[in-house]
Amino acid sequence: MTEIGPGVRMIDTRLGGRRGLTSAYLIDGTRPAVVDPGPETSAALLISELHDIGMGPDDLAWIVLTHIHLDHCGGTGALAAAFPRAQVVVHERGARHLAEPARLVAASHEVYGRTAPLHGGLTATSAERIVVAPDGHRVDVGGGTLEMIATPGHARHHMSVLHEASGMLIIGDAAGTQLAGGRLYPNVPPSDVDIAAGRNSILRLGERGATTITLSHFGPTADPETTLADADDALERLGHAALEGYRAGGRDGIAAAIDRYLPLAATVGNPEVVALWEWLSWDENNILGLEIWAERQDAAGDGA
Ligand SMILES: [Zn+2]
Repeated sequence: MTEIGPGVRMIDTRLGGRRGLTSAYLIDGTRPAVVDPGPETSAALLISELHDIGMGPDDLAWIVLTHIHLDHCGGTGALAAAFPRAQVVVHERGARHLAEPARLVAASHEVYGRTAPLHGGLTATSAERIVVAPDGHRVDVGGGTLEMIATPGHARHHMSVLHEASGMLIIGDAAGTQLAGGRLYPNVPPSDVDIAAGRNSILRLGERGATTITLSHFGPTADPETTLADADDALERLGHAALEGYRAGGRDGIAAAIDRYLPLAATVGNPEVVALWEWLSWDENNILGLEIWAERQDAAGDGA
């Protein structure tokens, strides 16, 4: 557990047993919150880290989710069971999946393919413990507040979390991924990526004047303005790649266009980080996500 700002600690949730891939956040207060518990396979680790700092079963008030992809939310049911007073804060579109996770887990495993076992599943949270958060919803952590900001793009139900006391923005996957030693690159996996919405979300996040931006994958970035500017530029490029590539040749066309507009290896700039992307199939999932988006754009007749 690492303090990354006043009242905010980061916990490495070690997707697939590896450090530096997925992060959870503990927000201090008399009603503390965990943001994004991480995959189910990491829940025992997270719970023991919370026990190690003296948190008892009654001491966690909130589990806050940026979105319901399993690398972020899979541990929710297990964490909620270990801390039976905690309520779960999530976007409206995520709520029903937490209460009845079977369909979400099946669909997610289809996308993850061979990496599904790294993620595990998700056990149900009883519906009365789920709090639906609209844009602007505030979570009282006791001596401080979290503001939930709707940031669709990576997924329609994606939300970012502003820790008002420190000015830190916990933005999940809204800007993309930046693993240690590499540069930022967006994650645009299936099934409901929206490039235009994602760019608008980045614009809105920029208006908040955050002191720090922290990414689920992985941790605080050097400078909020640079992070958001890079994310916007990258999404614009991926949008062009998706539409041009899709029209030229479907999925293969998109892969070729990504290599022209935003080549993964050259953009990330670190072969070890690129190997992690490939190990997790994030590169392939980006192509699949962009294909679905491009198909929808064409069907709607409003592509560029
Ligand atoms: Zn993620």
